[in-house]
Amino acid sequence: MSDRFSAWVSTADAVRATTKKLEKMALLGAYLGRLEDADLVIAARLFAGAPFSRKDERVLSVGWSALADVLLERSGKSDADMSASYQRHADLGDVAFELVGDSPPDGEPLGLVDVETSFTEMAAVRGTSAKRDVLRSVMRRATAGEARYITKVIAGETRIGLREGLLEDAIARAFARDRAAVARANMLTGDIGDAALRAKHGSLEEPTLTHFAPIGMMLATPVLDLAEVARRFPPPYVVDDKYDGVRAQVHKAGDRVELYSRTLDRVTKRYPELHDALLAIPGSYVLDAEILAFESDRAVPFTRFQTRLGRKDVSGELRTRLPASLVVFDILEREGRSLLDVPLAERLGILRTLPIAPPLRLALQRELNDRDEPLVAALEREFVAARDRGNEGLMVKDPRSPYRPGRRGMEWLKVKRALRTLDAVVTAVEWGHGKRKGVLSDYTFAVRDGDRLRNVGKAYSGLTDKEIAEMTEHFLATTIKDLGRLRIVRPDTVIEVAFDQMQESARHDSGYAMRFPRIVRLRPDKPVSEIDTLDTVREIARTVAGEHAKDQGAPSGEGEDVP
Ligand code: AMP
Repeated sequence: MSDRFSAWVSTADAVRATTKKLEKMALLGAYLGRLEDADLVIAARLFAGAPFSRKDERVLSVGWSALADVLLERSGKSDADMSASYQRHADLGDVAFELVGDSPPDGEPLGLVDVETSFTEMAAVRGTSAKRDVLRSVMRRATAGEARYITKVIAGETRIGLREGLLEDAIARAFARDRAAVARANMLTGDIGDAALRAKHGSLEEPTLTHFAPIGMMLATPVLDLAEVARRFPPPYVVDDKYDGVRAQVHKAGDRVELYSRTLDRVTKRYPELHDALLAIPGSYVLDAEILAFESDRAVPFTRFQTRLGRKDVSGELRTRLPASLVVFDILEREGRSLLDVPLAERLGILRTLPIAPPLRLALQRELNDRDEPLVAALEREFVAARDRGNEGLMVKDPRSPYRPGRRGMEWLKVKRALRTLDAVVTAVEWGHGKRKGVLSDYTFAVRDGDRLRNVGKAYSGLTDKEIAEMTEHFLATTIKDLGRLRIVRPDTVIEVAFDQMQESARHDSGYAMRFPRIVRLRPDKPVSEIDTLDTVREIARTVAGEHAKDQGAPSGEGEDVP
């Protein structure tokens, strides 16, 4: 018989309740170590916050209104209760917990397999009412604690207080294996459940990088300025232009070519113009690259290229007007050989042997040493040159580093424009005034704080009229609560916000507010799990406070995100 879901919930609660890493690991290890195979796979995937494995392309697509309806039905509470609870928690999982409260479940207690079966059915059935029925039958049997996590998974909130690295460590510990081996198997199989099972049975070494199973992309850490680069690691540096487009991982084997997005979704059909050139490169490979458009050798600003991004099938007209180019900057596999553990400098040597022809390009990459001129001066020169080419800034990489899938470390650094920006998620929207009457144009947005979201600002949309109209439709469809002028929306829209200063303020629940916030652009390519954190906000506020003290002339008070 499948293990009780309630035991998983108690473990998750206990893990959330402590900030001590060792304690979290001990709790997880003890729990995972005693599970049967099938339950182990399910439990591990759920701790990662997802209904299915990472490589699985199925989605639940349960609408928020269905979720809200079922929760109200299950709890017997009212719309007003839900809205009050949401304002307290800003987290649908916590709302579910509070609403269900001690109202008793009905039917057999849930086992892990029951929970998984209901997710499988939710993904399989079509139409809101069929999905609602599946949800209703699982929620009926759920306690408040169980309802909390089922809701979190459905809402796509992967924030259950557990980093995947920690989960890997706990699995290693539960079965006395090497943690790097667990991490590697997880990354290569795209399934933490499979990695847990392999840890249990001692087959962690078997998986290899396989074609058409995309792996997490290596991420970069932002640095404040060029001087910081030199503090992170010693030269030589590989210095790339930082292209402002969308990330893509390209797999080719035989006569099949596929492109995957940063969220590991297959996006091949969106860029049909890249197919032939990719197919023309002989043999098999996996590339890491950025997609963007060029006009007479200059990068087209992302805001223009973006017009074609949301679309699944790009019309011929748009394609001829803004044909996509693929700028390749790394290679992860060649002719059956995984290159993940090969140092960057050597990978780039292999990349250079590929016949790359338009619309494919090699990224501008050069090696910088401190032999000829001071490093910061050389970086400064490269930064200015990259900006002159229409690019965003620089990526500075360690030539000795392996490719670390899905990890943000100090081996890749990104240096962007001087203006401060944050990636945040929209939590609420308001109807505009005047010219913006009839559209939802004022956005409240939040950053991550552990497993919660904290509002940090509110801004009038700086998007185009067309984008605002499209976003209005999106927000109408994803409203959790309609409060008249204000609508609380599903936190799934990632935006990049620019601002001049960040200061402490009681206006938002983060304890901070921005001066002159403006929305720079939508970031549909960026998952909510990767937005900026409250720690970053604190750090910015601290450095800005220092700069502000120097800058007596700055106006104060005006231009804040006052409602
Ligand atoms: P950001 O999106 O600001 O977090 O910056 C990281 C992103 O820059 C990566 O995910 C890539 O999509 C993009 N990028 C552009 N040029 C490069 C490059 N030369 N090397 C690595 N990433 C790049």
